[in-house]
Amino acid sequence: MRVRIDEKDFLKYPFLKESQKFVGSYAGSPDRFITTPTGRAALLDAKHRILSAIGAPGAPSPGSASTDSEGIRVAVSGYALARLIVSCLKDRLITDRFTRYESGKAYEFLLDEDPGKKEYIAASLGLDTHSPAIPLVPYVELTSGMRDERWRLVNRDVSAGMVSIRAHESDELLREGIRLVIGRNLPLPVPENVCALFSAIAGEISAAEQQHLLEQFGTVEESSFPPCMQALITALSAGTNISHPGRFALTAFLHNIGMGPQEIIQLFCRAPDFDLNRTMYQVEHISGRGGTEYTAPSCAAMRTTGVCTKKDALCERISHPLNYYKQKKRSGKKAGSPGSGDVLVDSNTGGTHGEDKTSKGDKVRDPGRHHGGKQDEQDDEKDQA
Ligand code: SF4
Repeated sequence: MRVRIDEKDFLKYPFLKESQKFVGSYAGSPDRFITTPTGRAALLDAKHRILSAIGAPGAPSPGSASTDSEGIRVAVSGYALARLIVSCLKDRLITDRFTRYESGKAYEFLLDEDPGKKEYIAASLGLDTHSPAIPLVPYVELTSGMRDERWRLVNRDVSAGMVSIRAHESDELLREGIRLVIGRNLPLPVPENVCALFSAIAGEISAAEQQHLLEQFGTVEESSFPPCMQALITALSAGTNISHPGRFALTAFLHNIGMGPQEIIQLFCRAPDFDLNRTMYQVEHISGRGGTEYTAPSCAAMRTTGVCTKKDALCERISHPLNYYKQKKRSGKKAGSPGSGDVLVDSNTGGTHGEDKTSKGDKVRDPGRHHGGKQDEQDDEKDQA
């Protein structure tokens, strides 16, 4: 049976090639488009999409798009503009949240979708919703970001290069497939002159994200640091050199929770092999002076590099040191090792971490997918919800 994808479907599934073709039929170049009434409305739609994705307060609720012809044009081109803006931001966290937000919306529509259309959309993602098995390579690609143990190959029946799928799991795979398709080419290589068109909106989004992060993490509370970070700080304070992965993890973690470069450098100056220039370079590199910021590695990555130490009970429930920190702060519990939370601040600094002006405007970016950081964070958030 032939499936007809119409304009209302473009609104629901803007990632489909038909939807993108539709945008191409009327939008033209971004610089001209955003000066038209439809383009201006689409730019606003793009901003709202990204703000909703990062959970910024005041962002419009999903599903408020008008379904008339103009509303559909605004929404579908809003999605396309949002991809450009996200690409210009080069912020791993925003990209990740955007792809999850958009895939979540599309998935909600798919749950009530006509079976033939749902099948068509799945097929466009390379999925057969009726098949009881998936070839090994696509399976691994599809499930690499799914944390539940049941997706691991060791927990699956694999036969003749095919991985078995239970009937109720196809929707989950479909959702993940949409997320991967939406995120596949992000960030797009957008020319600088095009990014300049979005600089005001990009600035608003960055400020909203920073505000959101500040609300999430608040002021630095050393007593809520995870055991791995406390161990690294204790080692530094004792004048012990720490490994390169340990330095990276600690620097990124401290930066992510809002500590400024000067305070981080002060901490590292206790190491016996301290070299000011090298340390400044490393800290500034990790905290984004080179245009890319890093997120602290996930617990899995920390285990691989031998930096996960002295796990405690809370560690069993999280998959990222930043989530440990957030949850510990939230619960107000004391840190595992008595007194270890006090070693971080040099009493001579007299500073409050959250007030360091050098950290204002910074963003948490995760260019290293291998760390799995932001995704794990989000998964932990979902788990706790
Ligand atoms: S489980 Fe995670 S948070 Fe806990 S010590 Fe290991 S790396 Fe740190």
